[in-house]
Amino acid sequence: MTHEIPQTMGQQLGRRSWAEPWKVKMVEPLRMISREDRATALRDAGYNTFLLRSDDVYIDLLTDSGTSAMSDRQWAGMMLGDEAYAGSRNFYHLEEAVRTHYGYRHVLPTHQGRGAEHLISQTLIKAGDHIPGNMYFTTTRLHQELAGGTFHDVIVAEAHDPESLAPFKGDVDVAKLEALIGQIGADRIPYVSLAGTVNMAGGQPVSMANVRALRELTARNGIRLLLDATRMAENAFFIQEREPGYADRSIAEILFEFCSYTDGAWMSAKKDNLVNIGGWLAVNDDAVYEELRNLVVVYEGLHTYGGMSGRDMEALAIGIEESVSDDHIRARIGQVRYLGELLVDWGVPIVLPVGGHAVFLDARRFYPHLPQDAFPAQTLAAELYLDSGVRSMERGIASAGRDPATGDHIRPRLELTRLTIPRRVYTQAHMDVVAESVKAVHDARERATGLAMVYEPRYLRFFQARFEPLSA
Ligand SMILES: *Cc1c(COP(=O)(O)O)cnc(C)c1O
Repeated sequence: MTHEIPQTMGQQLGRRSWAEPWKVKMVEPLRMISREDRATALRDAGYNTFLLRSDDVYIDLLTDSGTSAMSDRQWAGMMLGDEAYAGSRNFYHLEEAVRTHYGYRHVLPTHQGRGAEHLISQTLIKAGDHIPGNMYFTTTRLHQELAGGTFHDVIVAEAHDPESLAPFKGDVDVAKLEALIGQIGADRIPYVSLAGTVNMAGGQPVSMANVRALRELTARNGIRLLLDATRMAENAFFIQEREPGYADRSIAEILFEFCSYTDGAWMSAKKDNLVNIGGWLAVNDDAVYEELRNLVVVYEGLHTYGGMSGRDMEALAIGIEESVSDDHIRARIGQVRYLGELLVDWGVPIVLPVGGHAVFLDARRFYPHLPQDAFPAQTLAAELYLDSGVRSMERGIASAGRDPATGDHIRPRLELTRLTIPRRVYTQAHMDVVAESVKAVHDARERATGLAMVYEPRYLRFFQARFEPLSA
């Protein structure tokens, strides 16, 4: 099957393609199983793609978390692991990499991002506090709630509209935040929780102008501004591409400037930082650091390893350096955009503009005949796996969970199925296969009947919930 190669980044000069800025040194064979076996695997997994065995998956777009391919330099770094319990030289390399590229003074390793979220939430949030943020993220919000806080979404309205082409749909609505501060009082808001890019809104970026305005507002009110830096290097690309004055600035410079307007950050290094496991927490304030350093020993490990081995800290330090390379980010986001543009050309409804780490299929428009209580996005993930063995993830009503006060489903406006692209793992040919499968599922959309949830875990239910098909 052939199709026209769409306009991609770098093709403005006629037919000049871009290609991945790496070549393959080692291969991991993929297994392809029959449709019949996929149907069995899907049933055994309760129609939840999180419960599939990866051996039964052909192209795995479940997540970009911990799924990156490490470079030869990172693997070489693994051999330089200093597995001393205290003061490993790899910790100091990591500390230097975070200070150089993110600019914070104090750095603590954690076993992954949620370890850092736990520490910062327990340290800064008191029962009855309120935490505003630019749309929730599952683990972030849960740690804030477990610490006694209430989360408030203050993202701009466009973020909830999958058809809005606004360039910075991750921005905080500053007026809304200001009103919230007036209502609640600054003394009950320990920090504003800012994420770049915003995963649940479709990987949408935050602008430099917005973080500057937030710095001004929070400083005036004596509130901290903390960053979820998990995909902040990717966010920097969109600033370079879309914000006046940044076209000639490097990703590294943009990242550094953005972080300079914030008081600290937590990081899931499994994303931007190109490692398979790890995280870190960084702050500027000495007193907050003192508290965190006390707490990290209880939950993660000594402050110079925080749940990571020396070799993993080394790979992370090198991964940070590689993650801010302009060529890397351009190809990474270019690949995501390539997939998105194919789908747009074929009339498949997706969230626009295409974000940094994933293409989000708009399950509401994909399956207009399914009510949200029939889990349209979950249904789409199941159908896609059945069609081709491509694994995706639900980001809709199942992920949103229940309202802690009423116990009812939270019904988010966005009902999405995420095709998340691992960094440096798949080629453009894999993207073609994925796009063609999505198209096939779209062509057969009228036959989908939806799902019912038959097992529901108490926390973060989307991970382990089980479903059964509704009959037509
Ligand atoms: C993945 C992620 C986290 C949690 O990090 P883990 O490493 O999975 O524990 C927090 N915030 C965002 C935006 C993430 O994508």
